[in-house]
Amino acid sequence: MINPDSELAVRFWEGRKFLDCPVIDFHAHMGEWRGIYLPRCSQEGMLRTMDRAGVRLLLFCGHEDLFAPGTRNSFNIERVHRNPDRFRAYFAVNPNYSDPEEDLKLFQENREVFAGFKTLPDYFGYPLTHERYRPYWEFADSEGLLVLCHTWGGSDRDGPEEAEKFLRKYPGVTFIAGHSFHGEWERAAEMAKDYPQLYLDLCAVMDDRGVLELFVERAGSEKVLFGTDLPWFDPHYYIGAILSADISDEERRDIFYRNGAKILSKFDWFGRIRKEGWWPS
Ligand SMILES: [Zn+2]
Repeated sequence: MINPDSELAVRFWEGRKFLDCPVIDFHAHMGEWRGIYLPRCSQEGMLRTMDRAGVRLLLFCGHEDLFAPGTRNSFNIERVHRNPDRFRAYFAVNPNYSDPEEDLKLFQENREVFAGFKTLPDYFGYPLTHERYRPYWEFADSEGLLVLCHTWGGSDRDGPEEAEKFLRKYPGVTFIAGHSFHGEWERAAEMAKDYPQLYLDLCAVMDDRGVLELFVERAGSEKVLFGTDLPWFDPHYYIGAILSADISDEERRDIFYRNGAKILSKFDWFGRIRKEGWWPS
């Protein structure tokens, strides 16, 4: 057995419930994707996976709303309404089709649905601090919202330089670096130490051994968030990787739910979900 000294690991390997250690997934999608079969990619399928793994709350942005912006975030809104106890969304921002006035109005009308915004600068072809994004980021900054941004090492659209420009300009945003500037691990850890509002998301990070330990050592476990890209990757794999890592159970709890709870505590809806008895004392 890996990590027999970890109480959490032993309980999870033995298949016992993880009830006093809920998991909040900060990076997910939803729906089908062209050219690949994604098992359990519907909301119901994802919920089955979440229940099996112990994921209590999932923050997602559906494929349709990210890549077919004519849908105007309607899939995200409908899916959160269908199960507000387990799902919240990021409002998709695609600068190729943006309409800030309409979008921000829609966001305001659906404050209970969204924790913030999601974007993919490398996919969409505009750097993170491009003028087209400005109204969204100013709004997120003044409202203290989350921005989950795809980030990748070496990219001039969403690599460390663009992110630093963003972080200096919009300090009120809780910035979640999706994939943690993949590959530029040391720089990511340094940045997380320098910018209190920057969090490192583990999605796709665990394909490289030792990075989680490096993040915890250099940036601190309180700067790391659980994220999976579900339905692309499975939470069991990520939970297993965290339980197998050379860090403490207290540090694991930070990553699984404590940091997430701190970030989300500013939202009224989170207080209501928390009261329903699923939270460790
Ligand atoms: Zn993603």
